Amino acid sequence: MNVSEFRSRVRTWLDENDLTPAPRLTFDEQVVQLGRVRRALYDAGWMRYGWPAEIGGLGGPAVLRAVLGEEVATRELAEPGIYSMVEVLAPTMISYARPELAAEMVPRLLNGEEQWCQGFSEPGSGSDLASLSTRAVQRGDDWVINGQKVWTSLAQFASRCVLLTRTGPGHKGITAFFVDMDTPGITVRPLRTMHGVDEFAEVYFDDVVVPADRMLGQPGDGWRVAMDLLPHERSTCFWHRIAYLFTKLDQLLAESDSTADDEIGAAYLALHTVRCRSYGTQQRLADGGVLGPETSIDKVLLATAEQQLFDTARDLLPGVLELSDTEWRTEFLYSRAATIYGGTAEIQRNIIARRLLDLGAE
Ligand SMILES: Cc1cc2nc3c(=O)[nH]c(=O)nc-3n(C[C@H](O)[C@H](O)[C@H](O)COP(=O)(O)OP(=O)(O)OC[C@H]3O[C@@H](n4cnc5c(N)ncnc54)[C@H](O)[C@@H]3O)c2cc1C
Repeated sequence: MNVSEFRSRVRTWLDENDLTPAPRLTFDEQVVQLGRVRRALYDAGWMRYGWPAEIGGLGGPAVLRAVLGEEVATRELAEPGIYSMVEVLAPTMISYARPELAAEMVPRLLNGEEQWCQGFSEPGSGSDLASLSTRAVQRGDDWVINGQKVWTSLAQFASRCVLLTRTGPGHKGITAFFVDMDTPGITVRPLRTMHGVDEFAEVYFDDVVVPADRMLGQPGDGWRVAMDLLPHERSTCFWHRIAYLFTKLDQLLAESDSTADDEIGAAYLALHTVRCRSYGTQQRLADGGVLGPETSIDKVLLATAEQQLFDTARDLLPGVLELSDTEWRTEFLYSRAATIYGGTAEIQRNIIARRLLDLGAE
């Protein structure tokens, strides 16, 4: 099926199968809604396009997933940030897990049965991820994990975690595991964001025993897993998010009676710029390309556009953000995180300077 045929069939199906959520869901309800949307799209086959047959997919280019997510985001059927986590975690599993494990687990993520989380950041290791200290020690056929993760999105809802641990010194001493979150010794403590949502959590590991066959890749492959995973946070996911932000721009135009054409125009231009950039990234993916540090440009452009859009909302809807508990306020506050999650804006600029422009060390 080609892209335009896929899009038109998905649209027809979504018109006939109403998955619209109730208004103003709590975060817990959004997670339930996400499961409902994934289940329905999986059962109808749409969620399986763009994924390989080995994990229950129906094949076709990855760009079909971008198209599906765009439709979901534009219709606001599921919160785009959590909808897109599939795009980050499933490709990693397909590349690094034992084929039987990937075949068993990935469909559970795609069909909404499970949520997964990504355990990378620690209290002392965010930007400097390679300094992480959560330790895994081999004991017979198992590995025993001790340490703490933080800012782990959806951890309190997750059945599994893609976890980075330290098994030796330096970058080559990082090893990734696929861990069941109900393993004894794991404690999850939700953290509240400034927009009032328990979106992420602290996760503690106390003598957590993980079988060796849950390792992703080989001992010491963890840094490679992380470097392969991060560009996925900036490709198909971004296409979904950009579509969502365009719907917010349309809403702003409808709600504001302002004639501040300059500000609206600038917000539009920033969004359009990142969409053009992301289009190129989608094309590279469709051509089988491997994504790398150049996706840091997408990240800087998206974070800039997102914050500019909600700055514009703040300016054109005077008092709404400051004085009332509306979705605009939530969105504005959440947009501040855009220059932090998935690697901060400063770190992206360092990567662009060092690895793309060859400007030397920091
Ligand atoms: C909404 C949200 C969801 C998240 N979800 C997850 C998740 O699911 N899993 C996960 O593992 N993590 C997650 N994170 C964590 C995120 O990856 C980290 O917050 C991020 O990598 C920054 O790390 P840090 O918070 O430790 O800040 P730090 O690394 O301590 O940085 C603090 C400040 O110093 C700056 N800085 C640091 N080093 C340099 C440098 N070398 N040059 C210039 N400036 C520098 C940074 O840009 C930043 O402004 C999430 C974060 C947010 C906000």
